[in-house]
Amino acid sequence: MVASIYTPAEENKAIWVYLEHENGALENVSLEMLAKARQLADQAGWPVVSLLLGNGIRELGEQAIAHGADEVRLAVHPLLEHFTIEAYAHVAYQALLEAKPGVFLLGATPNGRDLAGRLAVRLRTGLNADCTQLRLDPEADVLVCEVSGFGGGVLALIEMKHHRPQMATVRPGVFDALVPDPKRAGDVIPIPLDLTEDMVHTRVVERVTGEGVDISRAEVLVAGGRGVEGDFAMLTELARLLGGEVGATRPPVDEGHIERERQVGQTGVVCSPRVAICCGISGAFHFVVGVEKAGTVIAINADPEAPIFDHADFCIVGDVQQVLPALIRELRQRQGAHA
Ligand SMILES: Cc1cc2nc3c(=O)[nH]c(=O)nc-3n(C[C@H](O)[C@H](O)[C@H](O)COP(=O)(O)OP(=O)(O)OC[C@H]3O[C@@H](n4cnc5c(N)ncnc54)[C@H](O)[C@@H]3O)c2cc1C
Repeated sequence: MVASIYTPAEENKAIWVYLEHENGALENVSLEMLAKARQLADQAGWPVVSLLLGNGIRELGEQAIAHGADEVRLAVHPLLEHFTIEAYAHVAYQALLEAKPGVFLLGATPNGRDLAGRLAVRLRTGLNADCTQLRLDPEADVLVCEVSGFGGGVLALIEMKHHRPQMATVRPGVFDALVPDPKRAGDVIPIPLDLTEDMVHTRVVERVTGEGVDISRAEVLVAGGRGVEGDFAMLTELARLLGGEVGATRPPVDEGHIERERQVGQTGVVCSPRVAICCGISGAFHFVVGVEKAGTVIAINADPEAPIFDHADFCIVGDVQQVLPALIRELRQRQGAHA
């Protein structure tokens, strides 16, 4: 077995969290990881340290402390203005090597995954990808990561006993961020930098923002299953009237009725809307994990025995082709009356 660059005996007991940011704000997944790290660290008596790289982002360090970090390791440099794997991996690697944390968490986002893979190879450690739960066993000094494998068919608990840092990417939406406490105190420590232009071979020529949708942030989710028979127009109209987004179970996605980014569930997106309206959905475990954090679940299903009703706050036994048009009519009338 190849040894990691530093060993468990050399680690410093700390949970490090890599912070992603966009347009001057920390990404939700970073705040969610800080909350989970805070909980684990409190149980173990370890500190939470966040790793923040960028340019013109100093105030984000304060935000990280308000959201649970004890300390922020901060790298500010023009070459860190945009994420480039060479510059970010170089700085993060130096910082990790110097501090030797026991645990290092990153978001399971495109950039988080990219950085995590590079760093794991350089540090010669393992990487638990796309974790949906984390537990720290301070007695054994080990992080236990829950990972779903084989497309969600298997839930595995993975621990890394002999390599450090114990790295994991965390799926967005599975943990709740803390309410920020502006009175929390913490240290912001600059990372010494030796970045030069010749180290960075990627140049950002233009940034194009796609039209993709992030249903994990929707306040209202109108989700359709096989029971809507591919007719997502009604659901789209209902979502529009309620200021929400449309989601789907896997079958309509597989059948090409709706984009994959709208799939809710274990192999899709974990959502936490205030209200989820589940239309023509049976309530399979793989789907339910994607809406179990919803404030209120309303289910519409023709089958009174459908398992989705076990997870719903309001159960409507009926045909979606009748219930949805009636709902839409009623909402249009009310909104017309208030216009
Ligand atoms: C490894 C793995 C990973 C998976 N990951 C996911 C995932 O991330 N997300 C996901 O959703 N699924 C996932 N699945 C699939 C999952 O197990 C279920 O098969 C799927 O969620 C079922 O989708 P459904 O409820 O739309 O369809 P069905 O189970 O076929 O249910 C359709 C429902 O519609 C009702 N219905 C039919 N007609 C009407 C009508 N006119 N009006 C009202 N109700 C009606 C029926 O009574 C039925 O309850 C995964 C499966 C596997 C094996």
